[in-house]
Amino acid sequence: MEQKVKILEKHNLTHDVLRIVAEKPADLVYQPGQAVDISLNKPGWEHELRAFTFTSLPGDPFIEFTIKTYPEHGGVTNELLTMKAGDEIMIHGVFGDIAYKGEGLFIAGGAGVTPFIAILKQLEKENKIGNNKLLFANKTKSDIILESSFQNLLGNNFINVLSNEKITGYEQGFISAAMIQKYSDNPSGYYYLCGPPPMMDAIEKHFETLGISKEKIVKEVF
Ligand SMILES: Cc1cc2nc3c(=O)[nH]c(=O)nc-3n(C[C@H](O)[C@H](O)[C@H](O)COP(=O)(O)OP(=O)(O)OC[C@H]3O[C@@H](n4cnc5c(N)ncnc54)[C@H](O)[C@@H]3O)c2cc1C
Repeated sequence: MEQKVKILEKHNLTHDVLRIVAEKPADLVYQPGQAVDISLNKPGWEHELRAFTFTSLPGDPFIEFTIKTYPEHGGVTNELLTMKAGDEIMIHGVFGDIAYKGEGLFIAGGAGVTPFIAILKQLEKENKIGNNKLLFANKTKSDIILESSFQNLLGNNFINVLSNEKITGYEQGFISAAMIQKYSDNPSGYYYLCGPPPMMDAIEKHFETLGISKEKIVKEVF
């Protein structure tokens, strides 16, 4: 059964990414890394379900989403641009394949970083950040979600890869097998992967090339 909740707060994290905070349904249960289907309590939009990942933690008294918007699709994320505090969204079923299994390399493309926001927040809370690394692919620096937070949390273990911009200190191009190898210094570590389908396909080929076993890969396509 869906539940209606009010938006409490909405602001931009980047030029096209929104942070939306909403009321938490009383009986909602989820794990860091999981997503939920959302629709909008707006005529004509109640049955348009789209998946978004919780970037709040299960113990928070609110729920939070970090949402990349696509005005050109004329879909749900475009409608979210016009919604404001007090408007309602509908929360449907919780699901998701990404959960923390142990230290490793997190590889994200764009909004694919959202499950890792939640997982890394949880690890920070438990003082268990350890040697986890985040390899984060974006087109330009202006697309990087929560850059300074990740920098503060992970230091040198936060590596940005920009495909459309050259900046000193940032890797340039697409994530390659060599780049994955360069930042994989834990032979028993896990590989967490989330991003759009073309990126996922390319990186899964790199995993094969590098002989990374399927048991060590935790992934979800966006
Ligand atoms: C498990 C899961 C969790 C997710 N969590 C998040 C999250 O936390 N944050 C987040 O930002 N996103 C997340 N996503 C992605 C998110 O669900 C989609 O971005 C969202 O559904 C887009 O909805 P829309 O109605 O605005 O666009 P839609 O029209 O539904 O478009 C969705 C997809 O269709 C394609 N598409 C449609 N129209 C066009 C077009 N004109 N040009 C090019 N491509 C097009 C694109 O691939 C696009 O991403 C998640 C997805 C999954 C599966």
